[in-house]
Amino acid sequence: MEIQITEENPTVCPKVKSDELLSEFEDAYVEGFEALRKGKESDSSLPSPINLNVSDAIKVKLPNLKWHKYDVIPRKMKVTNSGRTVILSAKWDEEFPYITGGPFRHEKYVLSDIHFHWGKTANEGSEHLAEGLQRPLEMHVMHTKKGYTLREAVEKVDGTVIVVYLFEISFHHNPVLQRILLNLENIRQSGTDYHLPPFEISRLVIPFEEDFYFYWGTVTSKEEVCPMMWVINRKQGSISNAQLKLFHRLLDPSLRSISRNWRPVRSKEKRNLFYVNPLAPNTLQTMDPRPILYQEKVHYTSAVSVELETHAPRESIVSGSP
Ligand SMILES: [Zn+2]
Repeated sequence: MEIQITEENPTVCPKVKSDELLSEFEDAYVEGFEALRKGKESDSSLPSPINLNVSDAIKVKLPNLKWHKYDVIPRKMKVTNSGRTVILSAKWDEEFPYITGGPFRHEKYVLSDIHFHWGKTANEGSEHLAEGLQRPLEMHVMHTKKGYTLREAVEKVDGTVIVVYLFEISFHHNPVLQRILLNLENIRQSGTDYHLPPFEISRLVIPFEEDFYFYWGTVTSKEEVCPMMWVINRKQGSISNAQLKLFHRLLDPSLRSISRNWRPVRSKEKRNLFYVNPLAPNTLQTMDPRPILYQEKVHYTSAVSVELETHAPRESIVSGSP
């Protein structure tokens, strides 16, 4: 697990409610927070990833998740080949994007960077399973608690939040992923990076306030076990087969294709998986069947579209008009 904490500019604290108002506000969520507290006690040293199943999940009511400044265009943005994955990172002139609310109450978790997990074929790739099945791609959006140093963030139980988006295969290209994928050619070698025209992170990391999973877990990195909080969007993104193959162009330090970089589910132990603010409380479907809709479109000529839908050689993928 790569954890890169990008620098953060000094911020102006927004006005928070007085303690009194806050506790009154939180009265509605006492049971939810109590359930989470118990989960923290029992689960925060258990391994991730896990298998998600809505029928095992504990439904809880919490304040909605809030997303701040995700729609501010960064000053600069780059993709990096870490030798294991591709990392998207950015810098802002002012405050970095952050999340609050949900399980985090008024604490701020600041965006650090984004990376991906994929597999050799479209039948594998994700680290989390949904009802025992892998997805072709999983995106990890890393956040660290404001005020913590990098060491504190990786050591403390409340230091790091990974927001997870699973992806399904689609006949259509994902127009936002395309902005990243078309530049992977420039970072084929491990350890290289490439600057992109900056865009709002919210185009890729589509904010959601409710209807998500939350659990306490860990990630093992270089013999170190780091506690993590996991937030998993119940809505899934989409990616085409041709796009998925572009990840394989990346090389590891031994110049081999990074064809697979997911970790298997290791934990068979009983976990507290929370289904937060369910929009479909009686559903039997672990993931929302309606895919995420992205705001931008990619325009193709009809000749290219035909080619893409058959076998889609890499060169045939054309970028969208910005
Ligand atoms: Zn990851």
